[in-house]
Amino acid sequence: MEKYDVIVVGGGPGGSIAGKVSAEKGLKTIIFERGKKCGEKNASGVGLVPKIWRDFPDIMKNMDLPSQRISRMSTVHLCDKKGEIITEFAWTPSQLNDYKEGREFMVVMVYRSQFDHWLSEIAVEAGAELKTSTLITDVLRDGDGKIIGVIDENGNKYKGVVIAADGAVSTIAHKSGLRSKFGPNQTTLVVNYDFEAPEKKIDEFIGDNCLHNWFSPLYPGAFNFFKKDGFHIGLGQWYGALDKNLLSYLNTAIKTPAMSRMIKKLEAKPREVHAHALPWLQFPKNTYAENVMLIGDAAGFPCPLEAEGIWHAMYSGRLAALNAAEAIDKNDFSKAQMKKYEDAWIDSPLGEEFAAGKELQEFWAGMSFNPVNMGKSIPFANNMLNLFTGATSHVDMASKIVKDFRDNSSEYIPLLRRFIMPFFARIFEEELSDYSSLLPLLEKMMPKKSNRRRN
Ligand SMILES: Cc1cc2nc3c(=O)[nH]c(=O)nc-3n(C[C@H](O)[C@H](O)[C@H](O)COP(=O)(O)OP(=O)(O)OC[C@H]3O[C@@H](n4cnc5c(N)ncnc54)[C@H](O)[C@@H]3O)c2cc1C
Repeated sequence: MEKYDVIVVGGGPGGSIAGKVSAEKGLKTIIFERGKKCGEKNASGVGLVPKIWRDFPDIMKNMDLPSQRISRMSTVHLCDKKGEIITEFAWTPSQLNDYKEGREFMVVMVYRSQFDHWLSEIAVEAGAELKTSTLITDVLRDGDGKIIGVIDENGNKYKGVVIAADGAVSTIAHKSGLRSKFGPNQTTLVVNYDFEAPEKKIDEFIGDNCLHNWFSPLYPGAFNFFKKDGFHIGLGQWYGALDKNLLSYLNTAIKTPAMSRMIKKLEAKPREVHAHALPWLQFPKNTYAENVMLIGDAAGFPCPLEAEGIWHAMYSGRLAALNAAEAIDKNDFSKAQMKKYEDAWIDSPLGEEFAAGKELQEFWAGMSFNPVNMGKSIPFANNMLNLFTGATSHVDMASKIVKDFRDNSSEYIPLLRRFIMPFFARIFEEELSDYSSLLPLLEKMMPKKSNRRRN
Protein backbone atom coordinates (compact mmCIF):
# COMPACT_ATOMS: atom_id res chain seq x y z
CA MET A 1 0.00 0.00 0.00
CA GLU A 2 1.35 3.41 -0.99
CA LYS A 3 1.01 6.16 1.61
CA TYR A 4 0.22 9.78 0.85
CA ASP A 5 -0.99 12.69 2.94
CA VAL A 6 -3.59 13.73 0.37
CA ILE A 7 -5.21 11.71 -2.41
CA VAL A 8 -7.10 13.71 -5.04
CA VAL A 9 -9.41 11.67 -7.27
CA GLY A 10 -9.93 13.47 -10.60
CA GLY A 11 -7.68 15.83 -12.55
CA GLY A 12 -10.28 18.45 -13.55
CA PRO A 13 -9.98 22.10 -12.43
CA GLY A 14 -11.06 21.24 -8.86
CA GLY A 15 -8.60 18.36 -8.54
CA SER A 16 -5.63 20.32 -9.88
CA ILE A 17 -6.20 23.22 -7.47
CA ALA A 18 -6.67 20.83 -4.53
CA GLY A 19 -3.45 19.07 -5.56
CA LYS A 20 -1.53 22.31 -6.00
CA VAL A 21 -2.61 23.80 -2.67
CA SER A 22 -1.89 20.65 -0.67
CA ALA A 23 1.52 20.21 -2.32
CA GLU A 24 2.32 23.84 -1.50
CA LYS A 25 1.46 23.07 2.12
CA GLY A 26 4.27 20.50 2.02
CA LEU A 27 1.93 17.51 1.93
CA LYS A 28 2.73 14.37 -0.05
CA THR A 29 0.00 14.61 -2.67
CA ILE A 30 -1.18 12.47 -5.58
CA ILE A 31 -3.81 13.27 -8.21
CA PHE A 32 -5.45 10.37 -10.04
CA GLU A 33 -6.95 10.98 -13.47
CA ARG A 34 -8.64 8.29 -15.54
CA GLY A 35 -7.85 10.03 -18.86
CA LYS A 36 -4.50 9.80 -20.63
CA LYS A 37 -4.24 13.53 -20.18
CA CYS A 38 -6.21 15.90 -17.92
CA GLY A 39 -9.11 17.47 -19.79
CA GLU A 40 -9.50 14.93 -22.55
CA LYS A 41 -12.58 13.39 -20.92
CA ASN A 42 -14.29 16.66 -20.10
CA ALA A 43 -16.90 18.90 -21.78
CA SER A 44 -14.75 20.33 -24.49
CA GLY A 45 -15.37 24.08 -24.35
CA VAL A 46 -16.24 26.43 -21.52
CA GLY A 47 -16.17 30.08 -20.51
CA LEU A 48 -14.00 31.00 -17.53
CA VAL A 49 -15.60 33.72 -15.41
CA PRO A 50 -13.64 36.74 -14.07
CA LYS A 51 -14.06 35.50 -10.48
CA ILE A 52 -11.35 32.93 -11.29
CA TRP A 53 -8.89 35.80 -11.91
CA ARG A 54 -10.07 37.58 -8.76
CA ASP A 55 -9.50 34.52 -6.56
CA PHE A 56 -6.54 32.84 -8.31
CA PRO A 57 -4.57 35.81 -9.63
CA ASP A 58 -1.12 34.23 -9.45
CA ILE A 59 -2.21 31.30 -11.59
CA MET A 60 -4.46 33.08 -14.04
CA LYS A 61 -2.15 35.98 -14.88
CA ASN A 62 -0.02 33.45 -16.81
CA MET A 63 -2.80 31.79 -18.81
CA ASP A 64 -2.19 31.98 -22.55
CA LEU A 65 -3.76 28.95 -24.23
CA PRO A 66 -3.63 28.44 -28.00
CA SER A 67 -7.41 28.52 -28.57
CA GLN A 68 -8.57 31.00 -25.92
CA ARG A 69 -10.82 33.87 -27.00
CA ILE A 70 -11.78 36.72 -24.71
CA SER A 71 -15.47 37.56 -24.60
CA ARG A 72 -16.06 41.25 -23.95
CA MET A 73 -19.72 41.09 -24.89
CA SER A 74 -22.63 38.74 -24.40
CA THR A 75 -25.50 38.42 -26.88
CA VAL A 76 -28.96 36.93 -26.51
CA HIS A 77 -31.04 35.92 -29.54
CA LEU A 78 -34.80 35.65 -29.02
CA CYS A 79 -36.44 33.55 -31.74
CA ASP A 80 -39.94 32.74 -32.92
CA LYS A 81 -41.45 29.35 -33.64
CA LYS A 82 -40.04 29.34 -37.15
CA GLY A 83 -36.55 29.70 -35.69
CA GLU A 84 -36.08 33.22 -36.96
CA ILE A 85 -34.63 35.90 -34.71
CA ILE A 86 -37.30 38.34 -33.45
CA THR A 87 -34.87 40.49 -31.56
CA GLU A 88 -31.41 40.42 -30.01
CA PHE A 89 -29.68 42.23 -27.21
CA ALA A 90 -26.10 42.43 -26.03
CA TRP A 91 -24.26 43.79 -23.03
CA THR A 92 -20.73 44.31 -21.82
CA PRO A 93 -19.03 43.94 -18.41
CA SER A 94 -20.11 46.44 -15.80
CA GLN A 95 -17.59 49.17 -15.12
CA LEU A 96 -18.96 49.20 -11.57
CA ASN A 97 -17.37 45.83 -10.77
CA ASP A 98 -14.82 46.24 -8.04
CA TYR A 99 -11.93 44.37 -9.69
CA LYS A 100 -10.12 44.78 -12.96
CA GLU A 101 -11.04 41.54 -14.75
CA GLY A 102 -14.68 41.96 -13.74
CA ARG A 103 -14.65 45.24 -15.67
CA GLU A 104 -12.65 43.89 -18.61
CA PHE A 105 -14.40 40.75 -19.82
CA MET A 106 -17.45 38.51 -19.45
CA VAL A 107 -15.58 35.19 -19.79
CA VAL A 108 -12.51 33.74 -21.44
CA MET A 109 -13.43 30.86 -23.74
CA VAL A 110 -11.15 27.83 -23.60
CA TYR A 111 -11.03 24.20 -24.62
CA ARG A 112 -10.90 21.92 -21.61
CA SER A 113 -8.23 19.74 -23.22
CA GLN A 114 -5.93 22.79 -23.07
CA PHE A 115 -7.11 24.39 -19.82
CA ASP A 116 -7.25 21.26 -17.63
CA HIS A 117 -3.89 20.06 -18.92
CA TRP A 118 -2.31 23.47 -18.22
CA LEU A 119 -3.73 23.54 -14.65
CA SER A 120 -2.52 19.98 -13.98
CA GLU A 121 1.01 21.00 -15.00
CA ILE A 122 0.83 23.82 -12.43
CA ALA A 123 -0.15 21.29 -9.74
CA VAL A 124 2.79 19.09 -10.74
CA GLU A 125 5.17 22.07 -10.67
CA ALA A 126 3.96 22.75 -7.12
CA GLY A 127 5.02 19.22 -6.16
CA ALA A 128 1.91 17.06 -6.63
CA GLU A 129 2.32 13.67 -8.30
CA LEU A 130 -0.08 13.13 -11.24
CA LYS A 131 -1.05 9.58 -12.19
CA THR A 132 -3.03 9.55 -15.43
CA SER A 133 -4.77 6.57 -17.11
CA THR A 134 -5.77 5.42 -13.64
CA LEU A 135 -9.37 4.76 -12.71
CA ILE A 136 -10.20 4.81 -9.02
CA THR A 137 -12.93 2.27 -8.39
CA ASP A 138 -13.46 2.20 -4.64
CA VAL A 139 -12.59 3.65 -1.27
CA LEU A 140 -10.17 1.75 0.96
CA ARG A 141 -11.45 0.86 4.44
CA ASP A 142 -9.66 -0.40 7.54
CA GLY A 143 -10.80 -3.34 9.65
CA ASP A 144 -13.36 -1.13 11.41
CA GLY A 145 -14.88 0.02 8.10
CA LYS A 146 -13.33 3.48 8.32
CA ILE A 147 -12.31 5.09 5.01
CA ILE A 148 -8.54 5.42 4.92
CA GLY A 149 -7.84 5.86 1.19
CA VAL A 150 -8.75 4.60 -2.30
CA ILE A 151 -8.32 1.55 -4.56
CA ASP A 152 -7.63 1.67 -8.31
CA GLU A 153 -8.96 -0.62 -11.03
CA ASN A 154 -5.93 -2.91 -10.70
CA GLY A 155 -6.49 -3.36 -6.98
CA ASN A 156 -3.61 -1.05 -5.94
CA LYS A 157 -4.24 0.59 -2.57
CA TYR A 158 -3.40 4.17 -1.58
CA LYS A 159 -3.71 5.63 1.90
CA GLY A 160 -4.40 9.31 2.66
CA VAL A 161 -7.07 12.00 3.13
CA VAL A 162 -9.42 11.68 0.15
CA ILE A 163 -10.48 14.75 -1.86
CA ALA A 164 -13.12 13.63 -4.34
CA ALA A 165 -12.83 15.74 -7.49
CA ASP A 166 -14.27 13.04 -9.73
CA GLY A 167 -17.13 15.01 -11.25
CA ALA A 168 -20.88 14.59 -11.52
CA VAL A 169 -20.90 10.80 -11.43
CA SER A 170 -18.59 10.62 -8.42
CA THR A 171 -17.39 7.12 -7.56
CA ILE A 172 -16.10 8.37 -4.21
CA ALA A 173 -19.45 9.96 -3.23
CA HIS A 174 -21.13 6.67 -4.02
CA LYS A 175 -18.60 4.31 -2.43
CA SER A 176 -18.25 6.40 0.71
CA GLY A 177 -22.02 6.20 1.23
CA LEU A 178 -22.66 9.94 0.77
CA ARG A 179 -25.12 9.33 -2.08
CA SER A 180 -25.78 6.77 -4.78
CA LYS A 181 -26.21 9.44 -7.48
CA PHE A 182 -27.80 12.86 -7.93
CA GLY A 183 -31.57 12.70 -8.44
CA PRO A 184 -33.33 13.44 -11.78
CA ASN A 185 -34.12 16.99 -10.68
CA GLN A 186 -30.54 17.59 -9.57
CA THR A 187 -28.71 16.63 -12.76
CA THR A 188 -28.94 17.82 -16.31
CA LEU A 189 -27.84 16.08 -19.45
CA VAL A 190 -25.99 18.51 -21.72
CA VAL A 191 -25.34 17.75 -25.39
CA ASN A 192 -23.30 19.88 -27.71
CA TYR A 193 -21.78 20.01 -31.17
CA ASP A 194 -18.24 21.21 -31.46
CA PHE A 195 -17.63 22.99 -34.79
CA GLU A 196 -14.35 23.88 -36.37
CA ALA A 197 -14.27 27.21 -38.21
CA PRO A 198 -11.54 29.36 -39.74
CA GLU A 199 -10.16 31.79 -37.18
CA LYS A 200 -10.43 34.70 -39.61
CA LYS A 201 -14.16 34.05 -40.15
CA ILE A 202 -14.79 34.04 -36.39
CA ASP A 203 -12.70 37.21 -36.07
CA GLU A 204 -14.66 38.85 -38.86
CA PHE A 205 -18.23 37.98 -37.74
CA ILE A 206 -17.92 37.37 -34.01
CA GLY A 207 -14.72 38.96 -32.70
CA ASP A 208 -14.89 39.38 -28.96
CA ASN A 209 -18.69 39.16 -28.87
CA CYS A 210 -18.29 35.44 -28.35
CA LEU A 211 -20.73 34.41 -25.63
CA HIS A 212 -24.14 33.81 -27.23
CA ASN A 213 -27.39 32.36 -25.92
CA TRP A 214 -30.42 31.43 -27.99
CA PHE A 215 -33.98 31.19 -26.64
CA SER A 216 -36.93 29.91 -28.61
CA PRO A 217 -40.21 28.00 -28.32
CA LEU A 218 -38.55 25.19 -30.31
CA TYR A 219 -35.82 23.99 -27.94
CA PRO A 220 -34.53 24.50 -24.37
CA GLY A 221 -32.19 27.53 -24.08
CA ALA A 222 -29.02 26.95 -26.13
CA PHE A 223 -25.48 28.20 -25.50
CA ASN A 224 -23.09 29.10 -28.29
CA PHE A 225 -19.47 29.73 -27.24
CA PHE A 226 -16.75 30.80 -29.65
CA LYS A 227 -13.11 29.90 -29.17
CA LYS A 228 -10.28 31.14 -31.37
CA ASP A 229 -10.74 28.48 -34.05
CA GLY A 230 -14.05 26.81 -33.32
CA PHE A 231 -17.29 26.99 -31.39
CA HIS A 232 -19.94 25.03 -29.57
CA ILE A 233 -23.67 24.96 -29.79
CA GLY A 234 -25.27 23.01 -26.98
CA LEU A 235 -28.29 22.68 -24.75
CA GLY A 236 -29.37 20.74 -21.70
CA GLN A 237 -32.28 19.57 -19.65
CA TRP A 238 -32.86 18.06 -16.22
CA TYR A 239 -33.17 14.28 -16.48
CA GLY A 240 -36.52 14.54 -14.72
CA ALA A 241 -37.88 16.90 -17.41
CA LEU A 242 -36.57 15.14 -20.53
CA ASP A 243 -39.52 14.74 -22.89
CA LYS A 244 -37.56 13.57 -25.91
CA ASN A 245 -34.04 12.83 -27.08
CA LEU A 246 -32.03 15.99 -26.39
CA LEU A 247 -30.05 15.56 -29.57
CA SER A 248 -33.26 15.96 -31.58
CA TYR A 249 -33.75 19.38 -29.90
CA LEU A 250 -30.15 20.28 -30.71
CA ASN A 251 -30.60 19.18 -34.34
CA THR A 252 -33.76 21.29 -34.52
CA ALA A 253 -31.80 24.26 -33.17
CA ILE A 254 -28.88 24.05 -35.61
CA LYS A 255 -31.27 23.62 -38.55
CA THR A 256 -33.29 26.74 -37.74
CA PRO A 257 -32.81 29.44 -40.38
CA ALA A 258 -31.00 31.80 -38.00
CA MET A 259 -28.49 29.28 -36.66
CA SER A 260 -27.85 27.58 -40.00
CA ARG A 261 -27.15 30.99 -41.57
CA MET A 262 -24.58 31.67 -38.87
CA ILE A 263 -22.95 28.25 -39.32
CA LYS A 264 -22.79 28.77 -43.09
CA LYS A 265 -21.40 32.28 -42.78
CA LEU A 266 -18.63 31.03 -40.52
CA GLU A 267 -17.84 28.15 -42.96
CA ALA A 268 -18.07 25.87 -39.94
CA LYS A 269 -17.99 22.08 -39.96
CA PRO A 270 -19.17 19.85 -37.11
CA ARG A 271 -16.18 18.13 -35.54
CA GLU A 272 -17.52 16.24 -32.51
CA VAL A 273 -20.68 15.63 -30.55
CA HIS A 274 -20.56 15.47 -26.75
CA ALA A 275 -22.95 14.44 -23.99
CA HIS A 276 -22.20 15.19 -20.34
CA ALA A 277 -23.98 15.06 -17.01
CA LEU A 278 -23.93 18.36 -15.16
CA PRO A 279 -25.23 18.74 -11.58
CA TRP A 280 -27.64 21.65 -11.15
CA LEU A 281 -28.73 21.75 -7.53
CA GLN A 282 -30.67 24.13 -5.31
CA PHE A 283 -28.30 23.54 -2.41
CA PRO A 284 -25.50 20.94 -2.13
CA LYS A 285 -25.70 18.61 0.86
CA ASN A 286 -23.49 15.87 2.34
CA THR A 287 -20.16 17.18 1.07
CA TYR A 288 -18.02 15.31 3.61
CA ALA A 289 -17.59 11.99 5.39
CA GLU A 290 -14.89 10.71 7.69
CA ASN A 291 -11.55 11.31 5.92
CA VAL A 292 -13.39 12.39 2.72
CA MET A 293 -14.31 15.76 1.19
CA LEU A 294 -16.27 16.23 -2.05
CA ILE A 295 -15.42 19.22 -4.24
CA GLY A 296 -16.61 20.72 -7.54
CA ASP A 297 -19.18 18.76 -9.52
CA ALA A 298 -18.77 15.77 -7.19
CA ALA A 299 -20.28 17.98 -4.47
CA GLY A 300 -22.89 19.52 -6.81
CA PHE A 301 -21.40 23.03 -6.79
CA PRO A 302 -22.21 24.47 -10.24
CA CYS A 303 -24.07 27.75 -9.89
CA PRO A 304 -27.84 27.24 -9.41
CA LEU A 305 -28.69 29.83 -12.10
CA GLU A 306 -26.40 29.07 -15.04
CA ALA A 307 -24.52 25.95 -13.85
CA GLU A 308 -21.12 27.42 -14.53
CA GLY A 309 -18.86 25.37 -12.26
CA ILE A 310 -15.13 25.87 -12.93
CA TRP A 311 -14.67 28.65 -10.35
CA HIS A 312 -16.76 26.63 -7.90
CA ALA A 313 -14.57 23.55 -8.42
CA MET A 314 -11.34 25.53 -8.00
CA TYR A 315 -12.60 27.45 -4.97
CA SER A 316 -13.85 24.33 -3.19
CA GLY A 317 -10.62 22.51 -4.12
CA ARG A 318 -8.61 25.11 -2.26
CA LEU A 319 -10.87 24.99 0.83
CA ALA A 320 -10.69 21.17 0.94
CA ALA A 321 -6.89 21.17 0.65
CA LEU A 322 -6.58 23.70 3.47
CA ASN A 323 -8.79 21.56 5.69
CA ALA A 324 -6.80 18.44 4.75
CA ALA A 325 -3.64 20.26 5.89
CA GLU A 326 -5.29 21.12 9.21
CA ALA A 327 -6.52 17.53 9.65
CA ILE A 328 -3.02 16.15 9.05
CA ASP A 329 -1.53 18.69 11.40
CA LYS A 330 -3.91 17.64 14.16
CA ASN A 331 -3.91 13.96 13.15
CA ASP A 332 -7.70 14.19 13.18
CA PHE A 333 -9.60 12.66 10.25
CA SER A 334 -12.96 12.49 11.98
CA LYS A 335 -16.26 13.65 10.55
CA ALA A 336 -16.11 16.66 12.88
CA GLN A 337 -12.82 17.77 11.30
CA MET A 338 -14.13 17.21 7.74
CA LYS A 339 -17.28 19.18 8.61
CA LYS A 340 -15.04 22.23 8.96
CA TYR A 341 -14.67 22.11 5.17
CA GLU A 342 -18.46 22.17 4.71
CA ASP A 343 -18.77 25.01 7.23
CA ALA A 344 -16.03 26.89 5.35
CA TRP A 345 -17.68 26.65 1.93
CA ILE A 346 -21.13 27.54 3.28
CA ASP A 347 -19.59 30.61 4.90
CA SER A 348 -17.71 31.71 1.76
CA PRO A 349 -18.60 33.34 -1.59
CA LEU A 350 -19.31 29.78 -2.76
CA GLY A 351 -22.06 29.37 -0.16
CA GLU A 352 -23.40 32.80 -1.11
CA GLU A 353 -24.03 31.45 -4.64
CA PHE A 354 -26.69 29.19 -3.13
CA ALA A 355 -28.37 31.81 -0.91
CA ALA A 356 -31.32 31.85 -3.30
CA GLY A 357 -30.46 28.50 -4.92
CA LYS A 358 -34.01 27.16 -4.95
CA GLU A 359 -35.49 30.27 -6.54
CA LEU A 360 -32.72 30.65 -9.13
CA GLN A 361 -32.75 27.01 -10.16
CA GLU A 362 -36.55 26.98 -10.43
CA PHE A 363 -36.47 30.16 -12.51
CA TRP A 364 -33.99 28.68 -14.98
CA ALA A 365 -35.80 25.33 -15.15
CA GLY A 366 -39.22 26.90 -15.53
CA MET A 367 -38.28 29.63 -17.99
CA SER A 368 -35.12 29.22 -20.03
CA PHE A 369 -35.27 25.43 -20.22
CA ASN A 370 -38.99 25.35 -20.89
CA PRO A 371 -39.70 26.06 -24.58
CA VAL A 372 -43.45 26.55 -23.95
CA ASN A 373 -42.87 29.23 -21.31
CA MET A 374 -40.18 30.85 -23.43
CA GLY A 375 -42.67 31.01 -26.30
CA LYS A 376 -45.04 32.92 -23.99
CA SER A 377 -42.46 35.36 -22.63
CA ILE A 378 -40.39 36.15 -25.73
CA PRO A 379 -43.06 38.55 -27.16
CA PHE A 380 -43.13 40.42 -23.83
CA ALA A 381 -39.33 40.73 -23.73
CA ASN A 382 -39.39 41.84 -27.35
CA ASN A 383 -41.92 44.60 -26.57
CA MET A 384 -39.87 45.79 -23.62
CA LEU A 385 -36.75 46.07 -25.78
CA ASN A 386 -38.65 47.76 -28.57
CA LEU A 387 -39.55 50.54 -26.15
CA PHE A 388 -35.98 51.74 -26.66
CA THR A 389 -36.04 51.84 -30.46
CA GLY A 390 -37.28 54.57 -32.73
CA ALA A 391 -39.43 52.18 -34.78
CA THR A 392 -42.56 53.73 -33.40
CA SER A 393 -43.34 56.48 -30.91
CA HIS A 394 -42.33 55.59 -27.36
CA VAL A 395 -45.83 56.37 -26.09
CA ASP A 396 -47.28 54.01 -28.68
CA MET A 397 -44.86 51.23 -27.72
CA ALA A 398 -45.40 51.73 -23.98
CA SER A 399 -49.15 51.52 -24.39
CA LYS A 400 -48.70 48.36 -26.49
CA ILE A 401 -46.77 46.83 -23.60
CA VAL A 402 -49.54 47.69 -21.15
CA LYS A 403 -52.25 46.38 -23.50
CA ASP A 404 -50.26 43.22 -24.23
CA PHE A 405 -49.84 42.66 -20.50
CA ARG A 406 -53.55 43.22 -19.88
CA ASP A 407 -54.67 40.94 -22.73
CA ASN A 408 -52.22 38.16 -21.91
CA SER A 409 -52.16 38.46 -18.14
CA SER A 410 -53.50 34.90 -17.82
CA GLU A 411 -50.22 33.77 -19.48
CA TYR A 412 -47.85 36.20 -17.78
CA ILE A 413 -49.10 36.33 -14.21
CA PRO A 414 -48.66 32.59 -13.44
CA LEU A 415 -45.09 32.82 -14.81
CA LEU A 416 -44.33 35.91 -12.77
CA ARG A 417 -45.88 34.41 -9.66
CA ARG A 418 -44.12 31.07 -10.01
CA PHE A 419 -40.69 31.99 -11.28
CA ILE A 420 -39.93 35.67 -10.69
CA MET A 421 -41.65 36.76 -7.48
CA PRO A 422 -40.18 33.97 -5.26
CA PHE A 423 -36.69 35.30 -6.09
CA PHE A 424 -37.58 38.83 -5.06
CA ALA A 425 -39.34 37.52 -1.95
CA ARG A 426 -36.15 35.64 -1.06
CA ILE A 427 -33.98 38.69 -1.69
CA PHE A 428 -36.17 40.95 0.40
CA GLU A 429 -36.42 38.12 2.95
CA GLU A 430 -39.89 39.34 3.75
CA GLU A 431 -43.33 38.73 2.38
CA LEU A 432 -43.82 40.94 -0.67
CA SER A 433 -47.15 41.98 0.80
CA ASP A 434 -45.08 44.05 3.27
CA TYR A 435 -44.33 46.28 0.29
CA SER A 436 -48.01 46.70 -0.64
CA SER A 437 -48.03 50.09 1.09
CA LEU A 438 -45.83 51.25 -1.82
CA LEU A 439 -48.69 50.94 -4.29
CA PRO A 440 -50.90 53.71 -2.80
CA LEU A 441 -47.71 55.78 -2.56
CA LEU A 442 -47.06 55.31 -6.28
CA GLU A 443 -50.65 56.23 -7.02
CA LYS A 444 -50.22 59.44 -5.03
CA MET A 445 -47.06 60.25 -6.95
CA MET A 446 -48.90 60.04 -10.29
CA PRO A 447 -49.67 63.47 -11.77
CA LYS A 448 -53.38 64.30 -11.82
CA LYS A 449 -55.14 63.14 -14.99
CA SER A 450 -55.90 66.74 -16.03
CA ASN A 451 -52.14 67.53 -15.90
CA ARG A 452 -50.96 64.53 -17.87
CA ARG A 453 -51.42 65.71 -21.47
CA ARG A 454 -50.24 69.03 -22.64
CA ASN A 455 -51.76 68.75 -26.14
C1 LIG B 1 -21.40 21.20 -21.79
C2 LIG B 1 -20.93 21.88 -20.56
C3 LIG B 1 -20.62 23.22 -20.60
C4 LIG B 1 -20.16 23.86 -19.46
N1 LIG B 1 -19.86 25.18 -19.52
C5 LIG B 1 -19.30 25.80 -18.47
C6 LIG B 1 -18.85 27.13 -18.57
O1 LIG B 1 -18.96 27.76 -19.61
N2 LIG B 1 -18.26 27.69 -17.49
C7 LIG B 1 -18.09 27.02 -16.32
O2 LIG B 1 -17.52 27.58 -15.37
N3 LIG B 1 -18.54 25.74 -16.19
C8 LIG B 1 -19.13 25.12 -17.23
N4 LIG B 1 -19.55 23.83 -17.11
C9 LIG B 1 -19.44 23.16 -15.80
C10 LIG B 1 -18.00 22.72 -15.56
O3 LIG B 1 -17.53 22.00 -16.66
C11 LIG B 1 -17.90 21.87 -14.29
O4 LIG B 1 -18.63 22.45 -13.26
C12 LIG B 1 -16.43 21.73 -13.87
O5 LIG B 1 -15.72 21.08 -14.89
C13 LIG B 1 -16.30 20.92 -12.58
O6 LIG B 1 -14.94 20.66 -12.33
P1 LIG B 1 -14.49 19.40 -11.46
O7 LIG B 1 -13.02 19.48 -11.36
O8 LIG B 1 -15.30 19.34 -10.24
O9 LIG B 1 -14.95 18.13 -12.30
P2 LIG B 1 -14.68 17.68 -13.79
O10 LIG B 1 -14.28 18.81 -14.63
O11 LIG B 1 -15.86 16.86 -14.19
O12 LIG B 1 -13.42 16.75 -13.65
C14 LIG B 1 -13.51 15.47 -13.08
C15 LIG B 1 -12.26 14.71 -13.50
O13 LIG B 1 -12.21 13.48 -12.78
C16 LIG B 1 -11.88 12.42 -13.67
N5 LIG B 1 -12.47 11.23 -13.07
C17 LIG B 1 -13.78 10.96 -12.90
N6 LIG B 1 -13.95 9.79 -12.25
C18 LIG B 1 -12.70 9.32 -12.00
C19 LIG B 1 -12.22 8.15 -11.34
N7 LIG B 1 -13.07 7.27 -10.81
N8 LIG B 1 -10.89 7.95 -11.28
C20 LIG B 1 -10.03 8.87 -11.83
N9 LIG B 1 -10.43 9.99 -12.46
C21 LIG B 1 -11.75 10.22 -12.53
C22 LIG B 1 -12.48 12.84 -15.00
O14 LIG B 1 -11.86 12.21 -16.10
C23 LIG B 1 -12.26 14.35 -14.98
O15 LIG B 1 -11.04 14.72 -15.53
C24 LIG B 1 -20.03 23.15 -18.24
C25 LIG B 1 -20.35 21.79 -18.19
C26 LIG B 1 -20.80 21.16 -19.33
C27 LIG B 1 -21.12 19.70 -19.24
